[in-house]
Amino acid sequence: ATYQFAGKTILITGGAGDIGKATAHRFAANGAGVALLDLNEPKMAEVAEELKSYNVPVGTFRCDVTAFDDVAKAFTGAVEQLGRIDYVFNNAGYQGAFAKTDEYPEDDFQKVININVVGVFHILKAAAQHLRDVGGGAIVNMASYAGVVGPPNMLAYAASKFAVIGITQTAAKDLAPYGIRVNALSPALIGPGFMWTRQTELQAAVGSQYFDADPKVVEQQMINSVPMRRLGSLEEVANGVAFLMSEEASYITGFNLEVTGG
Ligand code: NAD
Repeated sequence: ATYQFAGKTILITGGAGDIGKATAHRFAANGAGVALLDLNEPKMAEVAEELKSYNVPVGTFRCDVTAFDDVAKAFTGAVEQLGRIDYVFNNAGYQGAFAKTDEYPEDDFQKVININVVGVFHILKAAAQHLRDVGGGAIVNMASYAGVVGPPNMLAYAASKFAVIGITQTAAKDLAPYGIRVNALSPALIGPGFMWTRQTELQAAVGSQYFDADPKVVEQQMINSVPMRRLGSLEEVANGVAFLMSEEASYITGFNLEVTGG
């Protein structure tokens, strides 16, 4: 389905990354203005340049989601530049280290929680305030299938994505009276892309009973765990975001949509 977002505006965190960029294209192609938030300014500028072809308003805002001041400033800037925000895709994230539980580095655990949980909370809070004041809207929090079933060697990431699903359920209840829907999206194996390459290499390097030491073999082992026997594409993730934001999903809130190939 092609949902129509003409005249609407979406704010996307992690807008310079693979999924953020694919989602920005999807919404701009369907008429939405786009506010990109990310730490990576050069990549964000490239995405903004690509989006020009759709003739929709586009803004880029450097923002560290772990700092609430930054988030508040970026929201103010986005609203000033684009008029208002209707949809918020709370998508910035970090995959973390790959290590067995007895070896998992403490500082990386804190970093993962800070970006994937505290950062998600910051964006959710700012989004809730804005959408409340404009009379409603929709939010999609990026979780992961790692927030449904904990994968090996990804302790902090699993913790953070289980948290995102919990946050989504509570926020959906808290914000329903304001006409704000809040859902989560949980992809499993998506690629090609940065996180796919990184996880095959790092799972291979851990040397656990679950994966081979050769990343090429790990790729096949992972794909063999998918009932549909292939990776999901970035566009298939963006399709899920589009559905959850759209009017077609008007009675869906507090839900975690799994985009996993089975
Ligand atoms: P990516 O690494 O390409 O993009 C992530 C983006 O987040 C980057 O542009 C990065 O600069 C940005 N970012 C990181 N820390 C930030 C911070 N503190 N403030 C602002 N921006 C920050 O990865 P992706 O595949 O596009 O992942 C996007 C989201 O999807 C993540 O939350 C990830 O956990 C989730 N996810 C990805 C997959 C996958 O296979 N790609 C699967 C499930 C879930």
